[in-house]
Amino acid sequence: QRAEEAEVLRDELGRRADLLDAANRCARALSSSLDLDEAVGAFIRELRGFIPFDRMAIVLSEDGAARIIATAGEETPAMSAGAEFSADNSLIADVVARGQTVYRRDMSEPLYREEEQLLALGLRSRVAAPLLAGARTVGLISLSRREPDAFQEHEIELTSLLGRLAASAVQNIRAYDSEHHTVEELRRLSALRADFVSLVSHELRSPMAAVIGAARTLQARWRELQPDQRESFLALIGDETTRLAALIGDVLDTSRIDAGTFTYRFSDVDVAALVRDTVATAAVGQDEVPIVAEVLPGVPVVRGDPERLRQIFGNLIENAVKYSPTGESVEVRVSQANGAVLVSVRDRGPGIKLEDQRLIFEKFGRVVSGNSKPGSGLGLYIARSIVETHGGTIAVSSAPGHGATFTVNLPV
Ligand code: ADP
Repeated sequence: QRAEEAEVLRDELGRRADLLDAANRCARALSSSLDLDEAVGAFIRELRGFIPFDRMAIVLSEDGAARIIATAGEETPAMSAGAEFSADNSLIADVVARGQTVYRRDMSEPLYREEEQLLALGLRSRVAAPLLAGARTVGLISLSRREPDAFQEHEIELTSLLGRLAASAVQNIRAYDSEHHTVEELRRLSALRADFVSLVSHELRSPMAAVIGAARTLQARWRELQPDQRESFLALIGDETTRLAALIGDVLDTSRIDAGTFTYRFSDVDVAALVRDTVATAAVGQDEVPIVAEVLPGVPVVRGDPERLRQIFGNLIENAVKYSPTGESVEVRVSQANGAVLVSVRDRGPGIKLEDQRLIFEKFGRVVSGNSKPGSGLGLYIARSIVETHGGTIAVSSAPGHGATFTVNLPV
């Protein structure tokens, strides 16, 4: 009898050792790579042989928000990897609060918000174990099955064990992911800065060379030159120094924005009148591109800094003119919708590809292509900063080859 008991015990111990080993293999699989997809792929392969499931999800929780980082098995778009939701009324809130495994024997009477969706996938029972990093719950791992009450006691226990073993691997992956993001961002910024240095030196050097050349010529050959020749040298000096002043102005504005010392003087602004004014000014300097203004009636007044707003509209119109083919008109429209004043500037130039539409609002962001024009890449960055200070938004819509429309939305 003793010998028999010993054999049973030995079998039981052997089984436990196997399970522990399997749980360890799962956790190790998860730390086998810092690449999330790779790590999760290896983890799921191990897990399937260990605790069978119809759906698995790993969810992280942070400050009341939950983010699904991996799923396997039954899928629904609202609950797939990358989805984020508020933890309120969700199982994760309970798991995090208690730091304990929750077993939902039957979800046919939903208790948590996400259970309707799980039921719709045909799932009935679910075990969710906390991912425990020390005493802190950083998320959960959840396993679901189609049958109600489908998990046995030891499987629930194993899921809890897995939650403890897997937490540090999940955290490593998460930390790596965010560091990776930071490094990419820094690399991008540093490339932008290098571009900027070469751009500014080029943008400063060429007008400067033109001004110096014109001034020297006037000085050396004043008497020989005809009055109209003198005029054109003087005009060139005027134009190029104006461009230089604008560039320096943009660089100064940008550094003030970054330092938080860009000042505003708010008053009631009649945007319609302001836009009409800006259009008239922009039309004076050139006659190659007609500028048409359309102001819809009843545009309300907004609180804003009229000079800063003029700067934005002027910049948008200037860009539109700069990129328009000769003879194609630029349309400026002022209207109102949903408690906001909308100012849109439309051109029929080359447009901006979708993948570049975010870049152009960033500091030094310029599209480098065959048809790019001189510029610093600062105008739209300054515009975005000004609009955001007004509580508004600025956006572009464009189909390349068919022009671009920039729209400023200012709350009333
Ligand atoms: P800059 O014009 O001085 O380079 P901006 O910030 O005003 O700086 O513009 C950033 C970039 O956005 C430009 O370099 C250009 O590539 C693109 N862009 C702006 N406006 C237009 C437009 N109307 N049509 C096509 N591209 C534009």
